[in-house]
Amino acid sequence: MLSIDDARARVLGAITPLPSETVPIGQSVGRVLSADVVAASDSPRFDNSAMDGFAAAAGAPGRTLKLIGEARAGAPFAGRVGPGEAIRISTGAQMPADGQLGVLPLELATEAGGAVTFNDELTPGRNVRNAGEDLRAGATVLTAGTPIGPAELSVAINAGAGSVQCALRPRVAIVNTGDELVQAGAPLGPGEIYDSNGPMLAAMATLTGAEVISVGVARDDATATRDAIENALAADVVLLSGGVSVGPHDHVKPALEALGVREVFWRVALRPGKPTWFGSKDERLVFGLPGNPVSAYVTFVLFARPALRALQGADPVAPRGSARLGQAVERHAARDECIRVSIADGVATPTGPQGSHRSSSLAGADALAIIPRGEGTLAIGEQVAIEAL
Ligand code: AMP
Ligand code: MG
Repeated sequence: MLSIDDARARVLGAITPLPSETVPIGQSVGRVLSADVVAASDSPRFDNSAMDGFAAAAGAPGRTLKLIGEARAGAPFAGRVGPGEAIRISTGAQMPADGQLGVLPLELATEAGGAVTFNDELTPGRNVRNAGEDLRAGATVLTAGTPIGPAELSVAINAGAGSVQCALRPRVAIVNTGDELVQAGAPLGPGEIYDSNGPMLAAMATLTGAEVISVGVARDDATATRDAIENALAADVVLLSGGVSVGPHDHVKPALEALGVREVFWRVALRPGKPTWFGSKDERLVFGLPGNPVSAYVTFVLFARPALRALQGADPVAPRGSARLGQAVERHAARDECIRVSIADGVATPTGPQGSHRSSSLAGADALAIIPRGEGTLAIGEQVAIEAL
């Protein structure tokens, strides 16, 4: 059986990054840049005041200056500020063009009868934010492959971008197999359970920048499973859950074979998630994830999420960190185990019982701690690799 890393390397080896498109900047959050963002102009664009106060030439404390006007944010002062003169100025207002002025904050000045007394020394450039000190015209401010969040959005806009080049969103189709599955909230018949994998995987894919084009349930029947997968193959990435083991009602593998989806691997030396299947047809990727909710979650994180990121040209996985175990953990002899942990002060504490059907172990988890296979127990305080969720 493949290790986690070998299986992931095979997934990444099957990827051809998607083409790109122009996206209005306001709609770019959650997407991945496919070209660098270069500042079109300096930011700030002009020297401006960092404070509400008075702008004047430099000078010693105790001066009384004549107030000759005002500069407000968005409304510069048009004239010159000569010796013995000052203007009122607001935070963000453009500095007058006359050379070496500074800004004295309101609280250090006393205003009376059209004049202002400066109660402190004013040095040139005091409380002035200089043009270009944030972003320089022509500088690369964001690089291709960067996922766009609110911070990157702000930087791109300040750099003058009205739109950005982004990778196309991977189109994802989800098929959940199982006769027992019922839609969330509906009444349950005997032996039935809710389909939690469908909505969960759809949410995970969407949060990874994908466009989920369909989510459905396929009955445990050879024809139904094949038809559902055939329809799903319209997408760039197909996520299947359940039916990928060797039971008499597991129809996923034969259906994939019949549809010409080439197997890259089946089974990983991993707990939970041993029966994970991965294959491709042309440039389409197909993940057969195990049905247990925790297994589906963990194998999405380990294999499908890196693939969705790589399709968009982003780094597939953040570098692994490490943490000390907050609790002793028994090792599995033959498979590496991914336990759900919360992280605080460098300590990884399991979120609760770790059975692959216990979705409660997912709530409150910050990371997967990777417990290498082997004999015996990893003691409390042992250092383990962790992968952020
Ligand atoms: P399977 O991989 O089909 O053998 O399913 C393994 C376990 O996961 C069984 O207990 C299933 O009932 C459960 N399961 C399968 N699919 C889902 C789903 N979509 N949502 C929640 N549980 C599921
Ligand atoms: Mg099943």
